[in-house]
Amino acid sequence: MTDHKQAVPAPFIVPGPSLGEGSPPITLGVMGGGQLARMFVHAAQQMGYATAVLDADAASPAGLVAHHHIRTGYLDAAGLAQLAQCSAAITTEFENVPAAALATLALQRPVSPAAEAVAVCQDRAAEKAHFARSGVPCAPYACIETDAQLAAVDAALLPGILKTTRLGYDGKGQARVADRAALALAWAALGRVPCVLEQMLPLACEISVIVARGASAKSVHLPVQQNLHRAGVLTTTTVPAPDVPAEVQQRAIASAHAIAATLNYVGVLCVEFFVLEGGVLVANEMAPRPHNSGHYSIDACDVSQFDLQVRAMTGAPLVAPRLHSPCVMLNLMGDLWSESGHAPDWAGVLALPGAHLHLYGKASARPGRKMGHLTVTAASAEQAGAVARQAAAVLGIGAW
Ligand code: ATP
Ligand code: MG
Repeated sequence: MTDHKQAVPAPFIVPGPSLGEGSPPITLGVMGGGQLARMFVHAAQQMGYATAVLDADAASPAGLVAHHHIRTGYLDAAGLAQLAQCSAAITTEFENVPAAALATLALQRPVSPAAEAVAVCQDRAAEKAHFARSGVPCAPYACIETDAQLAAVDAALLPGILKTTRLGYDGKGQARVADRAALALAWAALGRVPCVLEQMLPLACEISVIVARGASAKSVHLPVQQNLHRAGVLTTTTVPAPDVPAEVQQRAIASAHAIAATLNYVGVLCVEFFVLEGGVLVANEMAPRPHNSGHYSIDACDVSQFDLQVRAMTGAPLVAPRLHSPCVMLNLMGDLWSESGHAPDWAGVLALPGAHLHLYGKASARPGRKMGHLTVTAASAEQAGAVARQAAAVLGIGAW
């Protein structure tokens, strides 16, 4: 049992023209205007919905392609009122949208995922407690908010990774610590904000599972993705996961569904897992939205994670996605521009078989900024990997 509100099945918000003369098109709203919202907008528009994006940035990737761009902060009362007024249903692309903003919107419109579920994902300690509630193990950890807790840290957690409880992403807000002295220094460097210290685990590999759950409690999933990170940032995703036995994949899928069900979740949820030697599975973290590791689904599945987001929020039927092409997804970071000083060799990339280029429309490239991704589809994951390596060589991305 949980203390989260029971989701109420909503009637399907039907896309397409309404019958009445002059009535406005059915619009779907999204909080946040980054690349995830942009790909959501594309999926919603493909299905005939109009779209509204709330993001303060005039050049936000999703704001540029949506029907309505509301340029305010997430807590701006007038902006929220405008979004609620024009949208039939609202979702989020970003877990750090203040839960209060989602709660305000939910007074007027169906909002998925719910503020309570997003709040759990905003806080690593709450997230780990939720994994435990769902019967899914996570890495051994301790919460550090006081000097007393720092001093009391169990030696078994070292070496470990210190992570800020809130607002971390792409490996930011984290420090690897070898011993107590390093831990104390790292906590000071992170500004003594609330943190969790996790034991450093020997990873055989990393995977993630994306589930979509509707208000009717039906849930479906994408195939298991195998993810390679460099310096805490996702570098490649390969599907089907080449190094993970089917039985481990089934356990990961069941765990992801359990985590969503225990939250009474409505929407798309991504759960990241560590796979340890012997097939031991440990939940790392979750995101209450589509995820970078699911971008491949646009080109390699018959239903993408963004299609699922649209379907879950509108009460449309959820059908299980099918992977029609094995694939490798490669993230395209701002470093590709800055290091070379000129545009990457897109012609060279597009000459490769099965290459699907996605650029997010960001005006300037900075090192570490996610500018786009490339999905290579092929007859097998090995072939997709071989072509992805060719693409990496063309672009000057280091081999993996
Ligand atoms: P993102 O939100 O971009 O997924 P993040 O900044 O929230 O990332 P985590 O997912 O917590 O960070 O960690 C980033 C990466 O660091 C992991 O994918 C993994 O490669 C490594 N890592 C994190 N925690 C551990 C751990 N306890 N043991 C071993 N490796 C870890
Ligand atoms: Mg992560």
